[in-house]
Amino acid sequence: MVINLLNLFFPRVCLGCSTHLGDNETYLCGLCRHNLPVTNFHFDQNDTVKNALYGRIKLEQATALLHFSKKGIVQQLMHNLKYRGHEEVGEFLGKWLGEELKSLTAYKAIDVVIPVPLHRSKLRQRGYNQVTKFGQEIAKALEVDFNDLVLQKTLATKTQVFKDRLLRTSGDAATFSISENQSLKGKHILLVDDIITTGATIESCANALFRIEGVKISVATMAITD
Ligand SMILES: [Zn+2]
Repeated sequence: MVINLLNLFFPRVCLGCSTHLGDNETYLCGLCRHNLPVTNFHFDQNDTVKNALYGRIKLEQATALLHFSKKGIVQQLMHNLKYRGHEEVGEFLGKWLGEELKSLTAYKAIDVVIPVPLHRSKLRQRGYNQVTKFGQEIAKALEVDFNDLVLQKTLATKTQVFKDRLLRTSGDAATFSISENQSLKGKHILLVDDIITTGATIESCANALFRIEGVKISVATMAITD
């Protein structure tokens, strides 16, 4: 009753297409849910994500829940998550992927979930890291720790950017650093992010995390650009 009354004043709408949700629908309407372009990479032992980073970093497991295409439902979901305050998109996708991963032997070796961090100024501006809830839900499903303190994003100095451009082609002006590493020695980390496109962000984060002795890294993202 309370829910129905709330719905009257603040109608719950589908995060994919903005139609009103029925009483038994959450996050997405039935049609959008049915039409979500799931990859099933982790079920099919499909190496698309791993291959995207092949030769750059060594990954144990790597998957993405959805295919991202411009103008599709997934783009709408990502837009709602990043720019319209709908942090619950990450919760929804994290619960979904977490349920799937916990049934797979390959992911049982994970010890800790770490999200790709936002820079402090961006975090202040958005109010939340859009990957936090996604990572927390996956950690909960896998019954492991969630650690959003160890990996940090720092803006590179001009000199660093210049050096980066000389050394690499990605030209990302941000760098990632680790704040401590004792507790993560020898751990298997699941690094989580929203969308994987060129893989440059994942690569930078993984390179920072690989400074911790004996770590293994796997990757899970909400979506992958085709
Ligand atoms: Zn919908």
